[in-house]
Amino acid sequence: MICTHCSNEFSIEESNAACSKCGSFGGCNLVMCPKCGYEQPKIPKWLEKASQFFGKKNQLKVK
Ligand SMILES: [Zn+2]
Repeated sequence: MICTHCSNEFSIEESNAACSKCGSFGGCNLVMCPKCGYEQPKIPKWLEKASQFFGKKNQLKVK
């Protein structure tokens, strides 16, 4: 998924590794960006795919 704060792209696994430092590993519904530490709600897989689809569409328009 993509961080809404710094636009860093990371996987849920990376987020879990970063989140394990916060003490509520597995207990919170947030994903933490490993780059900037910004926490945001988990995005469902289907929504992530949809946003990636629309993101690619937008990139094609720009080019
Ligand atoms: Zn970030």
